[in-house]
Amino acid sequence: MNSKVRTRFAPSPTGHLHIGNARTAIINWIFAGHSGGSFVLRIEDTDVERSTPESEASILEDLRWLGLDWDEGPEKGGAFGPYRQSERSDLYLDHLEMLTQKDLAYPCYCLPEELEARRKAMLGKGDTTQYDKRCRDLTAAQIRKFVGEGRRPAFRFRADAEAVSFGDLVRGDIVFPGEQIGDFVIMKSDGTPMYNFACVVDDHLMGISHVIRGDDHISNTPRQILLYQALGWEPPVLAHIPMILGPDREKLSKRHGVTSVDQYRTLGYLPDALVNFLSLLSWSSESGEDILSRERLIREFDFNRISKSASIFNVEKLDWMNGMYIRQMEVRELARHLFPFLHQAGYPVRTAEEVEPMAVIFRAGMERLSDAVEKFRIFFAEFPVPESVEAAEVMQQEASRSIYKSFLSQMDGVRDLDRDAFQEIMKNIQQETGLKGKALWAPVRIALTGRVHGPDLPGVAEILGPEKCRKFAARALGA
Ligand code: GLU
Repeated sequence: MNSKVRTRFAPSPTGHLHIGNARTAIINWIFAGHSGGSFVLRIEDTDVERSTPESEASILEDLRWLGLDWDEGPEKGGAFGPYRQSERSDLYLDHLEMLTQKDLAYPCYCLPEELEARRKAMLGKGDTTQYDKRCRDLTAAQIRKFVGEGRRPAFRFRADAEAVSFGDLVRGDIVFPGEQIGDFVIMKSDGTPMYNFACVVDDHLMGISHVIRGDDHISNTPRQILLYQALGWEPPVLAHIPMILGPDREKLSKRHGVTSVDQYRTLGYLPDALVNFLSLLSWSSESGEDILSRERLIREFDFNRISKSASIFNVEKLDWMNGMYIRQMEVRELARHLFPFLHQAGYPVRTAEEVEPMAVIFRAGMERLSDAVEKFRIFFAEFPVPESVEAAEVMQQEASRSIYKSFLSQMDGVRDLDRDAFQEIMKNIQQETGLKGKALWAPVRIALTGRVHGPDLPGVAEILGPEKCRKFAARALGA
């Protein structure tokens, strides 16, 4: 057996990267890193009708965005390629041949409609609906007849085991009764391999040491074990991780809202936060801490700490975590992350540097990058619109008007409005009007931002600049 740890993520390119599959990829990536092993990406695109190059491209993009760089796979290559199942047909045919030689696989000429009719009849009688094995021992004459009718065979595995048992790193020992397995199809009549067969051939030939996947695959595993045995191979170490459930304890699905990685990206989640969050839907660190950098996830990962029960996807926790990541990020980097959101919202930003001061001011209250679109609106609005009746009323009070007048006279000729200059101006207004605290600051805030509450006003004013501040105060006075 290969002693080096090799994990793999094997998505079917039939849609966007689902959050549950991303979690599987993350655990495989973390465990490979933890063990100094390799993380392999394999594209399981044998379902020609449902697989698309667009889906593959989007899955690769999402993996890259998550920072789950693969050591081998599409675009990277590697010694065990090709890494797309559609490019490995010969290998499946060779191994099918090995199984038919040993009489462990046989051609089945039954047509889909015949199988369906028999299945219905069995169901009606309350019998098992497994394949009735009628093609198991066809004579040469029977085969000739089918071929003469233009039938092309699928191939089935001859499953005779009384029971299949295997160990699972998460679940412990599992025994599966043989009668529930049946003679399953390993290659379709059009020559494409079925998932269980292709998966076993590839996991073995690619030297995969650990198969870590969602436990929705656990019912496939007995079939895969039988194939390993039939081919004379040692199965890899298996670990089936519990499903992710929605808050209603149902399997996480579209019904629960956002479920694909690209949607989380568009909503303004950070890859580090998503990786941290999804990883902890499977296991917990010994320290019990929640915020764990990639380095710590890799260092502290432990199979023994994988939970045996399903975990609930709690979006509030993800939001909280994302906010933590936003706050611990270098401002320059945060601004770089925010820039595309502002640009896409149509704000006239030219560079990420321009965004930095805004990020400094607002980061404390942000949970998603996209929050910036609403929060930063004040910097790009032609005029601030009072956010409420209350705000509009404050603007019209006599006291506010005297503040605005004083503000405008203080601002006369001001060219540089940095924080200190603004503080100075506010102090002067205080002296002139006798107003202080909220009575002084709220009207100015409303005039400059339209909002009753908000972050550090001197910082906001500095970004707005003297010209806009004057314009907004004049407008408030005229309002
Ligand atoms: N292509 C399968 C899937 O996406 C892979 C399952 C496995 O990891 O074996 O579910």
